[in-house]
Amino acid sequence: MVYKHTKFIFVTGGVASSLGKGLTAAALGALLEARGLNVSVLKMDPYINVDPGTMNPFQHGEVFVTDDGAETDLDLGHYERFLDITTTRKNNFTSGQIYDAVIKKERRGDYLGATVQVIPHVTNEIKDRIMAAAEGRDILLVEVGGTVGDIESLPFLEAARQLSFDVGEDNAIFIHLTFVPFIAAASELKTKPTQHSVKALLEIGIQPDIIVCRTDRPLPQDVKKKIALFCNVRVGRVITAEDQRTIYNLPLALHAEGLDDQVIEALKMWVKKPDLSAWEKVVHETERPSDEVRIAIVGKYTDLVESYKSLNEALKHGGIANECRVRLDYIDSEKFEDDASALGELLADADGILVPGGFGHRGIEGKIAAVRHAREARIPFFGICLGMQCAVIEYARALADCARANSTEFDADTPHPVIHLMEAQKGVADKGGSMRLGAYDCNLQPESLAYQAYGKRLISERHRHRFEFNNAYRERLAERGMIATGVNPDLGLVEVIEVPAHPWFVGVQFHPEYKSRPLAPHPLFAAFVRASLDKKRGSR
Ligand code: GLN
Repeated sequence: MVYKHTKFIFVTGGVASSLGKGLTAAALGALLEARGLNVSVLKMDPYINVDPGTMNPFQHGEVFVTDDGAETDLDLGHYERFLDITTTRKNNFTSGQIYDAVIKKERRGDYLGATVQVIPHVTNEIKDRIMAAAEGRDILLVEVGGTVGDIESLPFLEAARQLSFDVGEDNAIFIHLTFVPFIAAASELKTKPTQHSVKALLEIGIQPDIIVCRTDRPLPQDVKKKIALFCNVRVGRVITAEDQRTIYNLPLALHAEGLDDQVIEALKMWVKKPDLSAWEKVVHETERPSDEVRIAIVGKYTDLVESYKSLNEALKHGGIANECRVRLDYIDSEKFEDDASALGELLADADGILVPGGFGHRGIEGKIAAVRHAREARIPFFGICLGMQCAVIEYARALADCARANSTEFDADTPHPVIHLMEAQKGVADKGGSMRLGAYDCNLQPESLAYQAYGKRLISERHRHRFEFNNAYRERLAERGMIATGVNPDLGLVEVIEVPAHPWFVGVQFHPEYKSRPLAPHPLFAAFVRASLDKKRGSR
């Protein structure tokens, strides 16, 4: 099957944010891939920040990091988990990047004296980047961030309108995701918000081809008919997207509603029916009521589970690999800074303890107390990035005669800077994009737990941090039983630490959660859940 041109699917959102536009686009991508198409994705974010790297996790949720070191929107995580792709910086851009590029061009004189305007200069910059992301693909899914009606997203929608006209009507379609609320007092599903948001789209020259309605119950045929009539779409192209028990059921649910059939028809393509058996298996494994492990996550962004999106998913994938359910208990480390015994009580029935990544001093001592509990009570422990750094601090303090050991991030004058800044980082003043970011290689020691999990010596994982294990303490810690089992071959930086005398104690400087997928659970998460399951069954 050879396509001369990429076909474009623009996904817009109406009525409210947080309706799951990214997930819907990702699930559609999975369906199209299952039909044999080569699909890629692009997320356009309307905010002016150049990237989300400097944003507070409470506002933005997780920052997803790509192999090539871009700090991107968390929707890219959904895309990597649902599609068989590895995203790069080409798969996400912000208004900030667009304006930055346009202004640089203007300063260089590239516009030859023209008055630089939103149309055509900003819209052309957007279109160029959409085309760059489309290269070599059958389909490019383009998610327009924000909600229709926002001022910020207007240039994106205008660029999409122009581009769909440029490539011709069989080569681009618009899918609009809206919200159909059930009003309990009237006992009725309401279509008016959908009608209004489609009107807002029509005002800017976009007629949606398919309307996906987020609801808490199936839309009856008469409600679909009403939406079809008011919004100029065929009734078969009004799709119910009901709330799901597990997000991995979304491809199956949308397929049952006919979404991928309608997309294929609207784009005038002839492709095979999808093979969804792999997704059916994932749903089965996620929902089967067999064993369950309880993993305590001791972090500080616990009010907003969105900031640990990839981590949550990776732990669920670990469950899929072990045919068990993973119950996640979030514990706010800050609440236990001065009360290790209360923390101990909370952690008493944990089958595994995980300390995730994070920045800044708040909650650190609570995390260190959680590490201590895991080490002393011999509960499987997994430390990720800051979590690994906390494990090193705790071990140095407790077992290597380094009282007051710390990271220089939290105590610049510590007598034992077991975690510190690399020389190269010391002069860096900019906060944006200045960390160790993206994929780095790591050599694993044979026989280590990490090696057993991966089944190979050379691995590559993604990073997002400034501070590093201080090699001056490597020998001293090794003598006391904490071993560096993974090291970066080029920089000599410690990437993995383990405590062989403990049943399962692993800290990693990188973020393995970014690369875990439901169809390919990450080996370290699979091993951690396995160890937790063994602990629960009393076999460790
Ligand atoms: N704050 C730590 C650092 O910058 C850890 C970062 C993280 O956990 N992502 O090194």
